[in-house]
Amino acid sequence: MKCDQRCVEGTLYEHHPQNDDPYYEINRGKCPECDGIGCDEISDVASEILSTSEKVQQAGRCSCFGSNDYCPCQNIADRTTVKNRMSK
Ligand SMILES: [Zn+2]
Ligand SMILES: [Zn+2]
Repeated sequence: MKCDQRCVEGTLYEHHPQNDDPYYEINRGKCPECDGIGCDEISDVASEILSTSEKVQQAGRCSCFGSNDYCPCQNIADRTTVKNRMSK
């Protein structure tokens, strides 16, 4: 059976259609993808372009140490960066 999961403001819900309730969902608790922050909010925040200081910080956490301009650490906000942005 396909597990249909969605994140609502950081809480993971699993869709289990019932005969009397086709929209029945089980609360699975904190979403591991976004760490309870909310996947929608994260995708908004994560899509912002990296600032220079964020690139430097991410390079320090990455195995490429920022030497590779094409590495995700120089192009995509990682989880820590997203968290820092969210806490602002
Ligand atoms: Zn989520
Ligand atoms: Zn890297």
